[in-house]
Amino acid sequence: MHDPAVFRSMHLARFQAAPAVFAAPGRVNLIGEHTDYAEGFVMPAAIDFATLAGISPRSDGKIVVYSENYGEERSFEAALLPAIASKHWSDYPLGVVAILAGEGHRIPGFSLSLWGDVPLGSGLSSSAAVEVATALAVCSLIETTYPGPVLARLCQRAENEFVGASCGIMDQFISANGQENHALLLDCRDLSFRLAPIPAHIALVIANTMVKHSVAGGDYTTRRAEVEAACATIARHRPEVRFLRDATVEDLEKWGHEMTPNSLKRARHVVTENLRTQAAAEALAANDLAELGRLMAEAHRSYSQDFEGSCAEADAMVELARQLPGLIGARLTGGGFGGCTINLVEQSQAAAFAKALAGRYADRIGIEPQIHICHASGGAHRVL
Ligand code: ADP
Ligand code: MG
Repeated sequence: MHDPAVFRSMHLARFQAAPAVFAAPGRVNLIGEHTDYAEGFVMPAAIDFATLAGISPRSDGKIVVYSENYGEERSFEAALLPAIASKHWSDYPLGVVAILAGEGHRIPGFSLSLWGDVPLGSGLSSSAAVEVATALAVCSLIETTYPGPVLARLCQRAENEFVGASCGIMDQFISANGQENHALLLDCRDLSFRLAPIPAHIALVIANTMVKHSVAGGDYTTRRAEVEAACATIARHRPEVRFLRDATVEDLEKWGHEMTPNSLKRARHVVTENLRTQAAAEALAANDLAELGRLMAEAHRSYSQDFEGSCAEADAMVELARQLPGLIGARLTGGGFGGCTINLVEQSQAAAFAKALAGRYADRIGIEPQIHICHASGGAHRVL
């Protein structure tokens, strides 16, 4: 996280007012991929990259937002905010303001500074970090508080309804509710959650493959349709199955022959991933790291072979990680077809692991990866 005192001085110099400062973290999903829209389980952890939001009131009725990352300022009339997004970074903070206004709050003028070290657009959820930090800042200005899960939902709505990105609830939820040295097992059906301890000697090593493929006929929408078709097949026999969350491996064995081969494979990934994600939380609670590693390996295999959501680069990153000392478990994390892998690594070996992985990946694939050594961190909070 950037130095909050330096950030406060920046805001003060720019706006001639001392800000209240809030921080919200990025995140990585340890296990539970493509389970969210099946109303299943995910298990993310907040990481020690965060976005800072500084806020101070203004008396001229303007909302002025500044991002140090972009070195850019935008100014709006608080009484006349744009109703639609403009495909600009300011959509994220304005979206939060729009949703809070829609909840019946009168939003006065303010100056807001943003400064984050969550890598932008790398799948570590800089967008949720901006939303949650902004939401805490604006809520403090209007002297409102929301419970973490409610705040997360408001921020998700800002991204869905204002920015126009169809993300699930996970990113905002973990950013708002994460806890240091813990992952969070989230039930996407009712947003109930349970913390699972991550021992302090484990580092979260995030390896960016630096590729993101668009696969013809293999995108998110197609996968989602295949999953829904499988669910509909099972529901013809068992109407109580509304989402694959409700389905079992036995359902797939009984009625898989009524599905297309692809639908069956995608469904098998989702159904077994739900089981693995819950089992991974149990393994953490029991401090059974060998079992956790086994579940992550199986999750990667399932994601790659059944869901066909991986790619050669991500498969290589996982395979290379397995050859290195200190690894507990490795898998592709995020929406798929590239992006980052998550590696749980013994802290004492994390630096050597990261260096060796970067070198071997560059040798094999011909691209320098970005590797971040992170720790499971606390959720959003006021820092100054
Ligand atoms: P990810 O969430 O994986 O980082 P997204 O595309 O969802 O990627 O969100 C990235 C976008 O969020 C950026 O393009 C920018 O518009 C906005 N954003 C993130 N961090 C900042 C920041 N510090 N200042 C301004 N905008 C930011
Ligand atoms: Mg995002």
